[in-house]
Amino acid sequence: SAKTAGKRQWRRYHPELQSGMAERANLQEALDSSSIETSFLVLYQPIVELASGQIAGFEALVRWPHSTRGMVLPEQFITLAEESGQIVPLGAWVLDQAAAEAVRWEGSVLRSRTADRKPPYISVNVSPRQFRDDDFYDVVRRALDLSGIEPASLVLELTESVLMYNDERILCEMNSLTELGIRIAIDDFGTGYSSLSYLREFPISILKIDKSFVDELGRSPEQYALVEGIAHLADTLGLTVIAEGVENVRQQELLISMGCELAQGYLFAEPVSAEEAGQLVLAPPLGRLAGSPVRPAEGKQ
Ligand code: C2E
Ligand code: MG
Ligand code: MG
Ligand code: MG
Repeated sequence: SAKTAGKRQWRRYHPELQSGMAERANLQEALDSSSIETSFLVLYQPIVELASGQIAGFEALVRWPHSTRGMVLPEQFITLAEESGQIVPLGAWVLDQAAAEAVRWEGSVLRSRTADRKPPYISVNVSPRQFRDDDFYDVVRRALDLSGIEPASLVLELTESVLMYNDERILCEMNSLTELGIRIAIDDFGTGYSSLSYLREFPISILKIDKSFVDELGRSPEQYALVEGIAHLADTLGLTVIAEGVENVRQQELLISMGCELAQGYLFAEPVSAEEAGQLVLAPPLGRLAGSPVRPAEGKQ
């Protein structure tokens, strides 16, 4: 019967499920007992002008180097940190690190006296739990004050899920933040389920087109039309578009032809250490553009 079949299936999957849960519990425990300052690491991935390969900014991406697990990636621990609430202090720490780094880049650009170069901005991911925390506004203000970063050089990346509950408090919070002079980006744009009307209602400056749309650009006319539609919409609303996960020159060319200005992806660079990011700030443009030398992405040489 279906019941016994179900039972059999349960038996078959049970050990797997249990070890998954055990691993989760272990990770959670390791996470809870780790001190933020000494356990985590922030990497920086360049955000570049598609046409020139010049660095416009960097995205801060957290890592958890673990003695036995190796480099633990965010998708393995951000959800856990959200559930336990540890994402609140962890996120604040990432913000402080990133802001301090951006101030260093600004200094080195100014010292280099390269007239055509603008200091790169820094973009920091903010999880829904962090954003909804009562102290979030103060955390951002403190990060600005402590680092001395220009508010215009700071971008906060939110996902559509934050805006799903179209409530007044969230609008107020976003208005207070943008009144400080910082900008807000919508991360993984197009993957959420919220209505597009939020683009008019909330003070948003940047749309980051999710990698899943960029992946199929050259192969699927539907994906091409979707991305072109987003680029057009952004243009009409006066928003900046950043394409995520650009891995080849074909994607780069198609995005340029759509009027997409900025991108991130292994074609240009993988996330790099703070030290390497500091070197990239003063280095020649990234990518494989005609007339410029090929600079292989970090870790691929
Ligand atoms: P995200 O914000 O959408 O970041 C982009 C992710 O795509 C990063 O993964 C980046 O390394 C990866 N990526 C960039 N270019 C390419 C490419 O060309 N090909 C491929 N295959 N991947 C590319 P990462 O660093 O593993 O981060 C995953 C997610 O974890 C992030 O997605 C973000 O949602 C979250 N995250 C990372 N750092 C933080 C943080 O400090 N706080 C919070 N709340 N979330 C974070
Ligand atoms: Mg992001
Ligand atoms: Mg993203
Ligand atoms: Mg993503």
